[in-house]
Amino acid sequence: AVRVTNMTKRFGDQLVFENVSLDVHKSEVVAIIGPSGAGKSTFIRCINRLHPFDEGTLEILNYTIEGGKADPPRQVLQDIRTRVGMVFQTFNLFPHLTVMENIILAPMEVKRKTRPEAEKRAMELLDVVGLAHKAEMYPKRLSGGEQQRVALCRALAMDPEIMLFDEPTSMLDPELVGEVLSAIRDLAKGGMTMILVTHEMMFAKEVADTVVFMADHTVVEKGPARQVLEHPQTERAQQFLHRVL
Ligand code: ATP
Ligand code: MG
Repeated sequence: AVRVTNMTKRFGDQLVFENVSLDVHKSEVVAIIGPSGAGKSTFIRCINRLHPFDEGTLEILNYTIEGGKADPPRQVLQDIRTRVGMVFQTFNLFPHLTVMENIILAPMEVKRKTRPEAEKRAMELLDVVGLAHKAEMYPKRLSGGEQQRVALCRALAMDPEIMLFDEPTSMLDPELVGEVLSAIRDLAKGGMTMILVTHEMMFAKEVADTVVFMADHTVVEKGPARQVLEHPQTERAQQFLHRVL
């Protein structure tokens, strides 16, 4: 579903990461872990081309994008962002729109769904995450965990083929983390292809097929989740895991 080959990313002359390669198969769950500043967020933003990258190749959906070249056509970027859903650390809901309006906006504007169609799908999604009764509320009246579940519904309402998550629970109070992780776990069980930046190591161990450890401007270690988390081969990963577990 996604293949990254020798990707390098700089901001100006500051290197963020180099030579990162990653193959993600359909229905695979990949967790990216690593210290702050390693370039994890930047990397997943390069995958849906929210950021351009400097070198290497990104194959996603049916597109092949080379680094360092002029931007691909606008329709290509738009198609990628339509078909690849993303949930960020902060919930980014539109404050002036109700939960329902937040979810149906893009399906109606981008996918040209009718309001009844979009609302029907939104209610199904809200129902799955236990928030159908909050459809008419405004985001500020929801808890952080509820807002993040709405953000998840909003992404899923576009019927994405791939989901990207950037530390979706790191801004939540500890008692609200579980409900969001549980929604993501269900999505993984349903066969969604996903790439997830997380510092929830237990969750990564349980849900991810593959774990990628990024540090020192590159991928230091990558492999089956249990192997990387329980028996890391590199000293750098051992150090990191020792500190966070
Ligand atoms: P964290 O765990 O703290 O979220 P991260 O691994 O996600 O860290 P990034 O946010 O990808 O790390 O940042 C990697 C490096 O790139 C950092 O040194 C950061 O300062 C730099 N960086 C990130 N975004 C930009 C930007 N828009 N412009 C310039 N430098 C940036
Ligand atoms: Mg980050």
